[in-house]
Amino acid sequence: MKLGALALLLLEVVGAEAAPSAAGATAGWKAGTGRAKITPPAGLWMTGYATRDRPADGTSQDLWVKALAIADPAGNRGVLLTADLCGITRQISEHVAAELERRHGIPRSAIMTNVSHTHCSPWLNGNLNGLRLLPEDGLEKAAAYTLELEQNMIRAASAALSSLEPAVLTWGEDAAHFSFNRRENTEKDAPALRASGKLKGPLDPRVPVLAVRNARGDLHALLVSYACHATTLSFFEWHGDYPGSAQLELERRHPSATVLFAAGCGADMNPAPRREVAVAEQHGRDLADAADRALAKPMQAVSGKFGSALTDITLNFASKPTEAQLREAREKDQPNKEMHQAWSATVTEQLRLKGDAIMQYSYPIQTWTLGGLTWVALGGEVVIDYSFRLRRELPGESWIFGYSTDVMAYIPSERVLKEGRYEGATSMIPYGLPGPWAPGLEDKIVNRVRELVTQLRGK
Ligand SMILES: [Zn+2]
Repeated sequence: MKLGALALLLLEVVGAEAAPSAAGATAGWKAGTGRAKITPPAGLWMTGYATRDRPADGTSQDLWVKALAIADPAGNRGVLLTADLCGITRQISEHVAAELERRHGIPRSAIMTNVSHTHCSPWLNGNLNGLRLLPEDGLEKAAAYTLELEQNMIRAASAALSSLEPAVLTWGEDAAHFSFNRRENTEKDAPALRASGKLKGPLDPRVPVLAVRNARGDLHALLVSYACHATTLSFFEWHGDYPGSAQLELERRHPSATVLFAAGCGADMNPAPRREVAVAEQHGRDLADAADRALAKPMQAVSGKFGSALTDITLNFASKPTEAQLREAREKDQPNKEMHQAWSATVTEQLRLKGDAIMQYSYPIQTWTLGGLTWVALGGEVVIDYSFRLRRELPGESWIFGYSTDVMAYIPSERVLKEGRYEGATSMIPYGLPGPWAPGLEDKIVNRVRELVTQLRGK
């Protein structure tokens, strides 16, 4: 253990030396951080799995919302909010952004929200409505928690925006290897297939890292991303899963730093093995090790300007559920019966309120430029194909986040949509949506991202 600690200390020193000085390429940038604990009390309903048939028993690990505010030399500001939550709604993101715009004069596109997708987090008002019909008191508690969450997000972001100080921003990457493509491999076989190099399907082990150091060279903030479901755990206690454990571990190793986790396009990736707290902690240490390896290597300095854009495109659903389909879901005795009933009730109510308008969805696409580095933050549970395609087609280096702004559904690529199964089709049931997306969504999303990045880069 002592050797390990020494090695880490050496990594820190190397990392600090590799970073450019405050007078170097990133002169004039500023950064600030904020955080708020969002662990709910026991007795609130959990989300993420259809097997959640009762409220949470208590806390295994605290949940947090964290904020990183940045400002370029011209004073253009952005604030990233990350949260140990399974999902987020457009309403939450917009409420938080409106208040931050009012208080700090920061434009909407410069406020980015991302969740880790931990499945040991609370049910939020308006998210995953097709998962289960909650009892009245469960809905009331979820609604109250959601309002409190918005206030905590505003508080964390305000603290970050109010504490901007000169900073050096650098970025790099390494890799972690506890994920696997869950559409192409069984969980049981994944560890052995991984060990023998025989895992099938697209897989992205990269761990992008943004390091923020203050003028003294202390690590002030660290943003770590990974493309993998936070589904190691499925018990009835609050827990941040591997992203929560990685943040804790990195904050223990770097006591001066606020560590944030942003989820990548891991909709078709699962961790393996699963189910035990010790395993989530091991995955967290693996991710922390990857981040530390990235810090120890020469990193790229962020220089130039900050830019942001946020827009919506309209995505269509393929077909409207018939009365017979809604009735069958309500009445049929089948596995996860409560989920099918909740889907039927949700879609029926939405049809009553909005009619055919429910066949379209306003899908959020956000892009940031940090000097030469591009961030793309997409709504929903985005499959890995988007990350590969966008990084190939966008100029320079890009990081692609999913689970941002509004986690309303899975976002399959054209390939996954055609193949169907959970990520391509049936996951629309827990999300309470009419049915699978209409073909053509991949090109729509990719083309719009490309346009936004081109506009931001002035080309
Ligand atoms: Zn998911």
